[in-house]
Amino acid sequence: MAAMGIDTGQGVLTVDLGAVVANWRDLSARHDASCAGVVKADGYGLGAAPVARALHAAGCQTFFVAHLTEGVALRAALGAGPAIIVLNGFAPGADEDAGLWPVLNGLGDVEAHAAAGRAAGVPQPALLHLDTGMSRLGLDAGEQARLGQDRARLAGLDLRFVMTHLACADEPAHPLNAAQAGRFAAAAAIIAPAVPRSFANSSGLFLGAAFRSDLARPGCALYGINPTPAAPNPMRQVVELQVPVLQVRDIAAGDTVGYGAGYTAPRNVRVATVAAGYADGYLRSLSGRSLALFQGRAVPLIGRVSMDLTTFDATDFPELRPGDRMMLVGGAGNTPDDIAARCGTIGYEVLTSLGHRYQRRYI
Ligand code: PLP
Repeated sequence: MAAMGIDTGQGVLTVDLGAVVANWRDLSARHDASCAGVVKADGYGLGAAPVARALHAAGCQTFFVAHLTEGVALRAALGAGPAIIVLNGFAPGADEDAGLWPVLNGLGDVEAHAAAGRAAGVPQPALLHLDTGMSRLGLDAGEQARLGQDRARLAGLDLRFVMTHLACADEPAHPLNAAQAGRFAAAAAIIAPAVPRSFANSSGLFLGAAFRSDLARPGCALYGINPTPAAPNPMRQVVELQVPVLQVRDIAAGDTVGYGAGYTAPRNVRVATVAAGYADGYLRSLSGRSLALFQGRAVPLIGRVSMDLTTFDATDFPELRPGDRMMLVGGAGNTPDDIAARCGTIGYEVLTSLGHRYQRRYI
């Protein structure tokens, strides 16, 4: 961004909140399910407060975060009204009247919150998480059996939802999907038959009727990540990252570029150096295997990605000048999913790695 003729050298991250809202409406309508907004990890790196405000204005009433501190910050941003649910849970009273709902991820959590509710004489709002195949958080099969035999343990709780989380929803044919649906239906019917259910994440919303519930929990698809990677992406893209070219220089055949002399010029090459690197979430594993867009055309990445700088072969772009901006993330063939595929990760990691040195522009 130019200020008094001086470029501050920062990249500009544009987040299209209209596209986030359109994606949320699309998911809600397409699947005839009430959809929450999952805004953990600072809204998958894009800003939990602006994303949640936009979704709330569009009618979203329920938000999921991972940590207590994320929930407290989101309550301050949203004010009273929408439900804010903390996936990792928290100790009774630890939310200091922010009105957050914990997810109860084990029988110990159930007992602690139920006891607090009985002591206060006010049933405590919470979600009950049943593990059906992730083996990560949630009551395991033994805990589910014990609770099913003694539902009096739930006295003192105001269970708003009973939930589970799918392990393989992005692979529609994976047998674990149906197995989890069956286990969830069976366990919820015994433990919490009258409690509304929360089941699908983004990918789960595309698995069909058995995966519908009272409240879906989409995250990645809101931000434009493809929920079913083997099929065309139905979601709108949300992010564009433009970074300024700091310098352009000509090197001769045989000259090398960057740390480890990771690239040797096979001919005379025009090197463009841009102001973003792995500290900005442009992953080092992209070294030698990515591209940026200049005026819609691909500019190949050369050499290693450094902490604050990345180098591109701009030989085919004689018009490129210092101060021009290249699109590091976004555009045709350069979505977060495309970038992730080049370096063996997932679009979620590309988004949540984006650093805080970019100017953020919400449109
Ligand atoms: N529900 C739970 C419990 C999660 O952990 C997550 C994210 O990892 C989500 C929902 C949202 O998943 P996705 O981003 O794949 O839609």
